[in-house]
Amino acid sequence: MSREPIIRFDRVSKRFGDFTVLDNLDFQVQPNEKVTIIGPSGSGKSTVLRVLMTLEPINEGVVYVGGDPLWHEYRRNNELSPARGAHLRRMRERLGMVFQQFNLFPHMTVRRNLTEAPRRVLGLSRAEADERAHELLELVNLGNQADKYPGQLSGGQQQRVGVARALMMRPRIMLFDEPTSALDPELVGEVLKVIRQLADTHDLTMLMVTHEMHFARQISDRVCFFDQGRILEQGPPEEILSSPKEARTREFLHAVL
Ligand code: ADP
Ligand code: MG
Repeated sequence: MSREPIIRFDRVSKRFGDFTVLDNLDFQVQPNEKVTIIGPSGSGKSTVLRVLMTLEPINEGVVYVGGDPLWHEYRRNNELSPARGAHLRRMRERLGMVFQQFNLFPHMTVRRNLTEAPRRVLGLSRAEADERAHELLELVNLGNQADKYPGQLSGGQQQRVGVARALMMRPRIMLFDEPTSALDPELVGEVLKVIRQLADTHDLTMLMVTHEMHFARQISDRVCFFDQGRILEQGPPEEILSSPKEARTREFLHAVL
């Protein structure tokens, strides 16, 4: 592929004390690519997403988003610091993240959960923010729930609010960290449907951690199997999910399928 990747991890290492979470990781995602990360618990999947959101510092290497480095060379406690000030805000606006636990503000209406950040960060007027919120709530099939509080919604509805909220800043990249694993089984489908629809209709780069293998197969251009902070193997979903080369991938798939 000749295009410049929109996400690039260049020999990135991340440690917690003596424990190496990301081990000299090389990883790239192309614009508009839909990539699924699978792998055992503790293999570093969430850390990749959290590093991209600048929620975790790294120890070595460089992370680029849209060609720009996300972290400064400036070191503190032997960790690379995030870019500061205006640059950091600009970089963060390129990414939206949906968490396993929905992380909505319980004391705010659905509408305000969506409009708070863009009003403060982007300086949108109330009318502009409300209009954008309305459009996105329609997109996730929650057009009539704007005045409710999160506690009045089902888990599936709350997570769809989470998706809409992440889209409010008009990110080019969406990150999903096990977006359905906190949901009752009967609510998983409605959330996956919204994510699939988003993938089909929007020019978005998507990076998703999920254990929903059927969904991963449908939506992904590429599946990456993480093991001990590295990518052990990656490729088209039919290849990785149906005929993996590595014994550890086979064991993992056997355990989750
Ligand atoms: P995954 O999402 O693949 O399950 P994570 O990226 O969340 O894995 O974490 C990888 C490992 O790093 C885990 O073993 C976890 O215990 C450890 N870890 C994550 N965050 C911290 C932290 N803040 N302090 C210490 N260890 C952590
Ligand atoms: Mg995780």
